[in-house]
Amino acid sequence: MTQPAPERKAAKPNPPEGRHSAFLPFARPGIDEESVAAVANVLRSGWITTGPQVEAFESALSGYLGGRTVRAFTSATGALEVALQVCDIGPGDEVIVPAMTFAATANVVLRVGAKPVFVDIELATRNLDIARVEAAITPRTKAVMPVHFAGLPVDMDALYELAQRRGLRVIEDAAHAIGSSYRNRRIGSFGDLVAFSFHPNKNLTTIEGGALSIREPAEVRRIERLRFHGIERAGDGMDILEAGGKYNLTDVAACVGLGQLRRLEQFNRRRRELAARYFEQLATDPPLHLPLRGDEGHSWHMFSPLLPLERLPIGREDFIREMAARGIGVGVHYPALHLFTLYRGMGYKTGDFPNAERVGRSTVTLPLYPALSEDDIDRVCAACAQVLTSHRG
Ligand SMILES: *Cc1c(COP(=O)(O)O)cnc(C)c1O
Repeated sequence: MTQPAPERKAAKPNPPEGRHSAFLPFARPGIDEESVAAVANVLRSGWITTGPQVEAFESALSGYLGGRTVRAFTSATGALEVALQVCDIGPGDEVIVPAMTFAATANVVLRVGAKPVFVDIELATRNLDIARVEAAITPRTKAVMPVHFAGLPVDMDALYELAQRRGLRVIEDAAHAIGSSYRNRRIGSFGDLVAFSFHPNKNLTTIEGGALSIREPAEVRRIERLRFHGIERAGDGMDILEAGGKYNLTDVAACVGLGQLRRLEQFNRRRRELAARYFEQLATDPPLHLPLRGDEGHSWHMFSPLLPLERLPIGREDFIREMAARGIGVGVHYPALHLFTLYRGMGYKTGDFPNAERVGRSTVTLPLYPALSEDDIDRVCAACAQVLTSHRG
């Protein structure tokens, strides 16, 4: 008989090390029952694709972003692609992107036929190093695409001063930064073209989805065309002016987004509290390299310290496996982008961007989402301490 007697399990209510507690993923969306009911109503309404919910969601986002014009998309990737197109960026053009970010940031540049030009990140902020951007500008450079990494805004004053002086468009990849602020102004409430992601791991989700916050009123109509087949409606007819994409959000998704937006401030406050708990409790030997603390404007999309690999006999894979064995999910955000096969094929190589490569090699994303408790964070910290101490050289 291999079946254990049930009472033997019950006899150990509080196993040491929390090993038998529920698995903690590194990210988890928080959808409340009100949203579940609201989605059911949309599903029953007879109108499930782009309609009144999308209109309400765009308008609510606009309100949240100080009245800016906002258009919803099916993803940040789609929003970024359309942003490049509305800037007329294509073959022969260059766009400056950070060497450490999610692949979409650079992939979209290739998708419109332009060339992504990588620039290293700052080790402390993990953001595009604005001081290094100038040297990467050529007569072909049309835009800079910074990422507000993990919700920590880039130095917007320096970025926009440079962009204005050199005549460049700015397309902000704000996938991590809904609810982040720079000098008390929300990301997306100012700036040129700002793209948000509402993927389930992000601070606000529509399941899949995104949005573009737009500065130039004259560009809104073309953005709408590029979002939906290139269709321009006139009277009772329509015309096609260019081959647009198909990036319209559904009403079902927008309904989820409306519920999320109502809770966004609360979500981000909780993320900041939990990040503060990590700073208090995360003490390991050898120590992890902790992310920059930032200020109240940080929305803490992720908490990603660097492993002290130079002082450990194990690799990141081992760390991730040993954390998983303790019931803790650990992510990797992100490997250096220029070292993927696609970008190596363009001539990029190891050694080009030392900060991006160091972060790419050693970063680990620990669980952080509003439903976590202080005890959960303490459990993650204890597991990190155990794993690192057990391998100390
Ligand atoms: C998530 C993410 C994207 C893509 O977002 P989607 O909505 O999934 O297309 C782009 N850039 C960064 C930095 C991201 O983290």
